[in-house]
Amino acid sequence: MAASRPLLVLGTNNAKKRQELVELLEPHGLELRILADFPHAIEVEETGATFAENARLKAAEQAKVLGVWVLAEDSGLSVDALDGRPGVFSARYSGAGGTDASNNRKLVEELAGVAWEKRTAHYVCHASLSDPHGEIRAESVGHCHGRIRLTPAGAGGFGYDPYFEIVEYHRTFGELGPAVKAAISHRARALDRMVPQIMTLIRSGAWT
Ligand code: IMP
Repeated sequence: MAASRPLLVLGTNNAKKRQELVELLEPHGLELRILADFPHAIEVEETGATFAENARLKAAEQAKVLGVWVLAEDSGLSVDALDGRPGVFSARYSGAGGTDASNNRKLVEELAGVAWEKRTAHYVCHASLSDPHGEIRAESVGHCHGRIRLTPAGAGGFGYDPYFEIVEYHRTFGELGPAVKAAISHRARALDRMVPQIMTLIRSGAWT
């Protein structure tokens, strides 16, 4: 009988993020599951003041309830001219019921009149891995630098992607497509640093 693969649950309900995470993790021989596979999964409140705190909360609280290893991430956009906003409030920048469209509208309004050279920004992704007892066993961070356009371009990605230009490419993440995003995004870079830690834990026998 073939040995079963190590089970890892992705602790996010954001379908676009989840798709990116699955594509980044699929080559590594893990048995990936999503929260929708677990009827008793909880909605973890993001009460942290930082990406790191929220990622830890989402991983540890979910892992304790499900009794499995959970990888969670918290991510967002930090705009220099806005003193780092929207930051940890990226998903709800325009309010509690905010959508990508209303968040982008607010971002463009706030940056109106700010010169292109001053519209520098970066995405941040903080990833946290919890064991089934709610202990954080690995963490990583990834960044991706760019500038904010005032008009959207491209329909790829999600969130702020149609406005986020990767300067070297002169294209937004909306235009660049999933292969480029999977190579250089904040999420890809955080996972590049997370996967070796997961492999070390598995080899050490911690994954029981
Ligand atoms: P979280 O679910 O609290 O981590 O919020 C993430 C929010 O940050 C998303 O709803 C987007 O607004 C923004 N965000 C994070 N990563 C990306 C990305 O890769 N592209 C575009 N927006 C992103």
